[in-house]
Amino acid sequence: MSETNLSKTYDFSSVEQRLYDWWEKSGFFEPSNDPNKPGFDPARKPFVISIPPPNVTGELHLGHAMFVSMEDLMTRYHRMKGVPTLWVPGSDHAGIATQMLVEKALLKEGLHREELGREEFLRRTWNWKEKYGATITSQIRRLGASCDWKRERFTLDEGLSRSVREAFVRLYEKGLIYRGPRMINWSPGLKTAVSDLEVEYSQEPGFLYYFKYVLADNPNEFIPVATTRPETILGDTAVAVHPEDERYQKYVGRQVIVPVLNRMVPVIADAYVDRAFGTGALKITPAHDPNDYAIGLKFGLEAINILTDDAKINENGGPYRGLDRFAARKKLWEDMRALGLVIKEEPYTLNVPRSQRGGEIIEPRISTQWFVHIQPLAEAGLEAVRDGRIRIVPERFTKVYYNWLENIQDWCISRQLWWGHRIPVWYCDDCKNMTVSRQDPAQCATCGSGNIHQDPDVLDTWFSSGLWPFSTLGWPEETPDYKYFYPTSVLETGYDILFFWVARMIMDGLEFTGKVPFETVYLHGLIRDEHGQKMSKTKGNVIDPLIVMNEMGTDALRFTMLVGSTPGSDTNLSLKKVEANRNFANKIWNAGRFVIGALDQVPQAATAKPEWTLADSWIWARLQSLVGDVDRLFAAYQYGEAGRQIYEFFWSEFADWYLEIAKLQLNEGGDRAFYTAQTLVRVLDASLRLLHPFTPFVTEELWGHLKQALQDRPTLYTPAEGWAAALMVARFPEPWPVEGWEAQKVADFSAVQDVVRAIRNLRAEKKVVPGKRIPAILAAGDRLPVFQSQRATLAALAFLDPAAFTLAETLPDKPHGSVGLVVSGVEIYLPLAGLVDAESERTRLQKELDEVKGQIERLEKLLISDFARRAPAPVVNKERQKLASFQETAAKLQEQINVL
Ligand SMILES: [Zn+2]
Repeated sequence: MSETNLSKTYDFSSVEQRLYDWWEKSGFFEPSNDPNKPGFDPARKPFVISIPPPNVTGELHLGHAMFVSMEDLMTRYHRMKGVPTLWVPGSDHAGIATQMLVEKALLKEGLHREELGREEFLRRTWNWKEKYGATITSQIRRLGASCDWKRERFTLDEGLSRSVREAFVRLYEKGLIYRGPRMINWSPGLKTAVSDLEVEYSQEPGFLYYFKYVLADNPNEFIPVATTRPETILGDTAVAVHPEDERYQKYVGRQVIVPVLNRMVPVIADAYVDRAFGTGALKITPAHDPNDYAIGLKFGLEAINILTDDAKINENGGPYRGLDRFAARKKLWEDMRALGLVIKEEPYTLNVPRSQRGGEIIEPRISTQWFVHIQPLAEAGLEAVRDGRIRIVPERFTKVYYNWLENIQDWCISRQLWWGHRIPVWYCDDCKNMTVSRQDPAQCATCGSGNIHQDPDVLDTWFSSGLWPFSTLGWPEETPDYKYFYPTSVLETGYDILFFWVARMIMDGLEFTGKVPFETVYLHGLIRDEHGQKMSKTKGNVIDPLIVMNEMGTDALRFTMLVGSTPGSDTNLSLKKVEANRNFANKIWNAGRFVIGALDQVPQAATAKPEWTLADSWIWARLQSLVGDVDRLFAAYQYGEAGRQIYEFFWSEFADWYLEIAKLQLNEGGDRAFYTAQTLVRVLDASLRLLHPFTPFVTEELWGHLKQALQDRPTLYTPAEGWAAALMVARFPEPWPVEGWEAQKVADFSAVQDVVRAIRNLRAEKKVVPGKRIPAILAAGDRLPVFQSQRATLAALAFLDPAAFTLAETLPDKPHGSVGLVVSGVEIYLPLAGLVDAESERTRLQKELDEVKGQIERLEKLLISDFARRAPAPVVNKERQKLASFQETAAKLQEQINVL
């Protein structure tokens, strides 16, 4: 193997797919300790993650890319630590999203699902799933996800369907599931209840409508009331005021008349009413507002539903029956105006609930649905975090979790859809009783009648995803996988679904398995654009991860997201950063290419024991320190910082410094070349291992070449545990103890670096031709022995003329005609004659000085003029500061002219 065998730049497009297929085919994604295989050791604790199942309808976006990168990093890290590792992949049937998609496709054929019937519709949906459902998982593979695809699950597959039914029946049998009318979010377009998650609130301009509630016993008296949704007046069953509101006390207990409908409703008093909002009097519509619903329950008010399933006014709306909700709003308001009941309209910003799917306005509505009585489950969920059985990272989200569970409402689990887990409840047409069963019953459990029909509704998608960590492992069966891999280790997801999903898994896990479903919840932030704006199609700032991977490679995208992240904080992503990290992948590749190529120049064996150079010792000590830091940072979930430090080490220390010095050392030949090569391959090998969880492809590819080259050279370097089959199953570097010499070597080398940097800066400042050898005088003090040993290195890296390079401990006199400076206690003098032509330098400096003097003169005049007395103090001060700065520059320039 030689340098020429490796392409000049890293060609990710020819590498990624090939490596991924090879990893998968080789079984590297499967757990190294498998309870279903011989030789299984139950005592070894595994590391397990269940993937947040993406919607089967999904297309890869940066949110997916983030969690896949993060979970793959965790999985690859633990696998390389030698821990049996399992990452369970799968997808979610996504009830509403999928059903909408198929319905849309049907509409193009001019078909409606009702015409097809339930069975045929479901057959078509399954066909759709078979045909397109793998898109998202193949895109997840592109990110390098090392999931065990042999254990891939789908929330509607047979096993998971069994889990769902078991969970429902158990809850029902414990009295924790009930059916009844309650306030829910209703989607008129989809004609189903939807979860809070599927409702998005948007700020929109609207009106606050003020009108009169006329007293029943005196048509001349009225209570002014304001509403944002006048059509709900049709469902009003009370007007509420604050008990201490003097304006309205006289009305409490009397009756008022509902406009147009002329129903009489009571005036009630409740401290919930905000006296400062609107008129301070509140219309109460228990059937169409969650807060009114609560007041309605408290006062025993009637809840009058005024809407049909598709949000038209129903029979309770009198003359407005059959009108769409918005048409009814307009018509009712105009009718009220004609009746003299309107006071005014005022522009008002509304917080409008819209469907996440269709975008239509969601109606709060009372509807008969199935609910989970959540209180007992929530208490257990709170306890598990309070007593430390589950840790939330970052910790600040613990409070958010408590707050949510302490205020949780019963969970509406039924949806009026066809695609999903059908509710396992059968109603008897004869005795009207329910049969709830694990198996489909043939007859009523109460009277034995065969006239039974199943509930038409399906369960909320989150009902099945709440069971995900254990249903995917075989629960309720005590399968070997379930017994060994459950509870899982880490649940990793965005902080935005802490409640909807994470809290439900915790409650379900405790309820059904008696165990926490995972030990740690790791929450990553959301990905924003480079200016910190949320990405959205309307803003046009969405970055498509597939395009980025096509153009810059998967490693570049992964590294950018992982290194930019801190737990729970949002990440700003720019294409410039991805581009910089594509350059990093190339840097890794080029460094590796140099190291592998260098092996050709190195003798087969050493003749004596190693004599390490300062640079050898330094890079080794720096690697040791890095490995220790990475270990600590990984344990603290600070993956982004760990990645940043590895990057810095590799680029700035290994590639920029050690490789340059190694070139000199290799040229010395003999044992020096042999041990330099040994250091190069040891550091490169360790670096590739450290980087692998972040950038799996470029590291695996390069490591393969390194391994191949070194297998021919076992005396040069063989890893302690031998060469693994692949980098992804090789061992992650373990910290090793400090021996005591490291700090001094690092300090000495830092001094050398400082001196080299200072000379390079001076050369740049004086515009010395690159590569031109210049004379130098160094007074190194105590460090003289170190600098003497590094003479050749210094001369090479700072382009000093070896024949005119003086090293001394101290200098009795400052050399004349030199630029002098002091860094790390070392005095550096660069004779200017060697740098520049003295005469032209004098001319240049003088010209600069004249210009500065001109500025000084101008400012001095300005500051004794009227301006200084009239202008505001800050403006004058600014000019004074400018003057001081010009004076300082002038003094420095004069000094430089003097030593010429
Ligand atoms: Zn019956």
